[in-house]
Amino acid sequence: MNLNILVLPGDGIGLEVTREAVRVLRVVAEKWNHQLTLREGLLGGIAIHKTGGPFPAETEKLSREADAVLMGAVGLPEFDNVAPEKRPERGLLGIRKSMGVFANLRPVRSYKALLDSSPLKNHLVDGVDMVIVRELTGGLYYGTPRGIYEDAPEIHAVNTMAYSWSEIERVTRMAFELARKRRKKVTSVDKSNVLEVSQLWRRVVTAVAPDYPDVELDHVLVDNCAMQLVLNPKRFDVVVMENMFGDILSDEGAVLAGSIGMLPSASIGSKKPSGAWTGLYEPVHGSAPDIAGQNKANPFGAIGSVAAMLEYSFGLTEEAAAVNRAMEHVLNTGRVTADLRPTGPPATTEQAGEAVCHAI
Ligand code: NAD
Repeated sequence: MNLNILVLPGDGIGLEVTREAVRVLRVVAEKWNHQLTLREGLLGGIAIHKTGGPFPAETEKLSREADAVLMGAVGLPEFDNVAPEKRPERGLLGIRKSMGVFANLRPVRSYKALLDSSPLKNHLVDGVDMVIVRELTGGLYYGTPRGIYEDAPEIHAVNTMAYSWSEIERVTRMAFELARKRRKKVTSVDKSNVLEVSQLWRRVVTAVAPDYPDVELDHVLVDNCAMQLVLNPKRFDVVVMENMFGDILSDEGAVLAGSIGMLPSASIGSKKPSGAWTGLYEPVHGSAPDIAGQNKANPFGAIGSVAAMLEYSFGLTEEAAAVNRAMEHVLNTGRVTADLRPTGPPATTEQAGEAVCHAI
């Protein structure tokens, strides 16, 4: 397969973790005989320095040409006090919008070696393996009318939660297609006992489900889902929900796994003519200026993002599983970065990446 990928290392530890993620990609491409076409672009603080803006036109062009984009992180302390539209982080919004990604995927899985870093009891977390699919471009965060109204007799504020059939359908289909490659179970989350938008959500999901007879579907109310995520997280495979519910529950899911340096994410758009899903892959963490340039950062969030890319954009489930298994193997050996509090001397970013490559 031709893997046509744009790499945007960004700022701070973004550069360091992306370097290891790319190394892993090269090993996978070599082992499974894929042709890897890698291009590199500017995003964030480094782009401001070199071009005057956080999301240069050249990067936009490259991102449109690529099948998938691997990002590091953006943000530099020198921009902390400038206006939001001039900050490196504005580059993230720019590229997400330009690529038309409408679903955010957060894989949440437990690693045996990290069970003690989870706030939950080991037996609850051991074996957790789910993907939270959050609709990214609709719902309460974008609906109009919105605003704070200073009129008499009392100041009031309004936000609007709105979804169309097609917006719900496309993210639902993505969830079902994902589930087909996993344990074949979709849980749809809503608040249909109170909200009309959720009633439509449930109607659309139920209407789409017969197209995927091999996938089991259940509906859970959002308040119950918040509870189930800590009571019985293993019950979930693919969990799909609207924007705000996803914003909240994906962070709840994130803490199950332990360190922030471990967490990958994926933002997915429509299918390309090549058959690949348009996708933007990045670790959840930021540019970590406190440890940048010290070869200390945990590269597993970025390497996990590569696994997510192989699986979601290219459908290469075997390769993705191999990357995940390799990370698990390295975690078990204890040769991990300082944030995972190894008993022996911590591995550097480079050593951790190298170890994953060897394990693959
Ligand atoms: P951060 O995620 O960069 O760091 C938070 C803490 O976690 C720090 O102590 C850091 O050392 C640690 N940490 C983060 N990633 C790690 C890793 N891979 N290995 C080991 N330790 C790790 O969040 P922050 O400090 O709030 O933000 C720093 C900058 O990053 C800011 O400019 C912020 O706007 C930006 N940011 C960018 C993104 C993104 O690019 N998607 C996300 C969040 C924050």
